[in-house]
Amino acid sequence: MTVALITHRACEGHDLGPHHPECPQRLRAIHDYLLESRLDIALRYYDAPQATWAQLQRVHDPAYLEWVAAQNPAAGMVWLDPDTGMLPDTLEAALRAAGAVVLATDLVLREEVAQAFCAVRPPGHHAESGRAMGFCLFNNIAVGVAHALANGLERVAVIDFDVHHGNGTEEIFHADERVLLCSTFRHPYYPFSGADSASPHIVNVPLAVGSGGEQFREAVRHHWLPALEQFRPQMLFISAGFDAHAADEMGGLRLREGDYQWITAELKQFMVRLQGSAPIISALEGGYETTALARSVAAHLRGLLG
Ligand SMILES: [Zn+2]
Repeated sequence: MTVALITHRACEGHDLGPHHPECPQRLRAIHDYLLESRLDIALRYYDAPQATWAQLQRVHDPAYLEWVAAQNPAAGMVWLDPDTGMLPDTLEAALRAAGAVVLATDLVLREEVAQAFCAVRPPGHHAESGRAMGFCLFNNIAVGVAHALANGLERVAVIDFDVHHGNGTEEIFHADERVLLCSTFRHPYYPFSGADSASPHIVNVPLAVGSGGEQFREAVRHHWLPALEQFRPQMLFISAGFDAHAADEMGGLRLREGDYQWITAELKQFMVRLQGSAPIISALEGGYETTALARSVAAHLRGLLG
């Protein structure tokens, strides 16, 4: 079985201008590097469908969804929060970003592919049930998790190694014990949450500015893996942000491509040990230095491909 790469041209249509770090070039750099490195041959490409309103409503308030749809401008740009702009092309991109994770979940549940990576934008993990935030409109990973739960799964884990805390995912699942959240993030740092999330199913490991692969791997070995062993997830979702890379100046951490390949391989091996297969669904979150981003995504995919 192969690894799916789910994406859509519409995700490049959302363009907030030359000075916004969350730019279409991020996806172009990933696609170009996959071709250059010939990794594309090992992947099966799918077009992302648009998420339906019903799929989004599993994690977002109906009033919020109506508000987002009403903001959708016919021309020009509106700002949903100080970082999150919306253009005429944004809504389709956001619907396809969430829809990609739904398709990924279906493909893995049906065992058509072993794992899936969604090369999509806008990202999702800052979006709360009723709030757009930090470049995110819909919480793509949360929409996929809710889809898996609606399809009968009882225990799902979310892994988030983006440099920023995934406040949205935590807000959506904080009271849902079917979902284990394992996260590392720079702290204190935007969005200044996550360090005090006292809950047995939320395993947050804040990292100090300047932390590198050694501190990250220690967090995984000492906190994530024991929690995963105990929880025994039936499926893993990864909020795959690559802005903790050393070259990503905005992030302030020092991870490298090898760290991304290592964590991905660790998670895959863990699932294989647990249940003989590794149903893993990953979706792009941050990562703003496009060369490092493309190489890191490739390393992540190599970890999935094994
Ligand atoms: Zn981030």
